[in-house]
Amino acid sequence: MSLVVMKFGGSSVGSAERIKKVAERIIEKKRDGHQCVVVVSAMGDTTDELVDLCKQLTDHPPAREMDMLLSTGEQVSMSLLSMSIQHLGYTAISLTGWQSGMTTDCNHGNAKIVNIKPNRIFKAIEEEKIVIVAGFQGLSEDGEISTLGRGGSDTTAVALAAAINADLCEIYTDVDGVYSTDPRIVRVAQKLDEISYEEMLELAQLGAAVLHPRAVEYAKNYNVPLVVRSSFSHREGTLVMEGNAVEKSMVVRGIAYDKNVARISVLEVEDIPGILATVFGALADAGIDVDIIVQSGVRNGAADFSFSIANTDVEKAMIVMEELRSTVTFREVTYETDLVKVSIVGAGMVSNPGVAAKMFRVISEQGVSIKLVSTSEIKTSCVIDRDKLTEVILALHTAYGLDANQQAFVGGPKERR
Ligand code: ADP
Ligand code: ASP
Ligand code: MG
Repeated sequence: MSLVVMKFGGSSVGSAERIKKVAERIIEKKRDGHQCVVVVSAMGDTTDELVDLCKQLTDHPPAREMDMLLSTGEQVSMSLLSMSIQHLGYTAISLTGWQSGMTTDCNHGNAKIVNIKPNRIFKAIEEEKIVIVAGFQGLSEDGEISTLGRGGSDTTAVALAAAINADLCEIYTDVDGVYSTDPRIVRVAQKLDEISYEEMLELAQLGAAVLHPRAVEYAKNYNVPLVVRSSFSHREGTLVMEGNAVEKSMVVRGIAYDKNVARISVLEVEDIPGILATVFGALADAGIDVDIIVQSGVRNGAADFSFSIANTDVEKAMIVMEELRSTVTFREVTYETDLVKVSIVGAGMVSNPGVAAKMFRVISEQGVSIKLVSTSEIKTSCVIDRDKLTEVILALHTAYGLDANQQAFVGGPKERR
């Protein structure tokens, strides 16, 4: 008998009918002789709807209350799923994050798990119950309800799998597995049978929504066998695992994109030691994550630099920059919003020169100019205008030989906010 953690995302539990299908799927696993601990997300777009509701009342919701609000979504689905399983004649119990012993730090809205004491989960397993845990939430070290950041139920599942020493963690979602790129953009994207933790981590961090980056980090650090598969079919999914030699021979394994990107440019900054430390220190103090930073050469004692941040942080960043005028000398700050970052990822890139140059060429052939670039051993990212995103991804996908022979995925586009 093995112990399996099964996680079902929002669209998998999007309606009463879907919840019933999930209940049946879990019972099937139980009947096959496995002990099941299940993690659920909020139903469908519930979390977005709760955010919208809050926006109708205030632009600046207190972080504590926001977590109180958002954590309710997962509690709806966990209780309904438990009821559905019990209705089908099996014993089940739903547990909130805090009942599951999930302790986090105090960073509301993006809390990190600090430890898990799964006593109640073990007790319920001993009693032969199917355990349903609310994803995305925990109890902070100061006793408040916390949430783990959007998409965080994946992280709940993998962290729990590590804590209870599960034999397998299965992430059930609305696509068949991890593809070479978002199959909703590229219809000939290839489903990958396996992918290394490193490559998956890069793809997730660079925007591939199929897995929450911290979930991959956990899986890698605790060696959790992780499978991404569909809750709508029984097709085999993608195994995320320790890298092997085969992968190194693939130059580019996947393409990811992030639509929440803006560029800020600071022009004619006085070139004295410590300027960058002052500017980026102030941005960090304001809680703004800076991604790519590019500085141009110095002319007449002044330099220009540009950096990318989340679109949603532009207003805050511009206030910080204006406040810096009293300590830092520069001519002007400009910004561009609604950009995207497109990235190619592959463990084989490190030993293959010319991969980045090819990316720049393919993008330029689409008549698109590149605004910022960043590279590491296994990825190259380019920031570009949003309006040509689809064409650029399609062209890169073909150029790196990733197109599948047959149409692999049939499904409608998924709107993301
Ligand atoms: P869930 O609600 O199950 O957590 P998500 O919407 O968070 O599902 O993640 C699944 C979605 O991730 C897919 O519908 C797909 O559009 C998107 N996606 C982006 N990149 C990839 C990729 N490389 N492989 C598979 N899916 C991807
Ligand atoms: N419900 C949360 C969200 O929509 C967490 C998750 O689905 O993983 O972000
Ligand atoms: Mg998700």
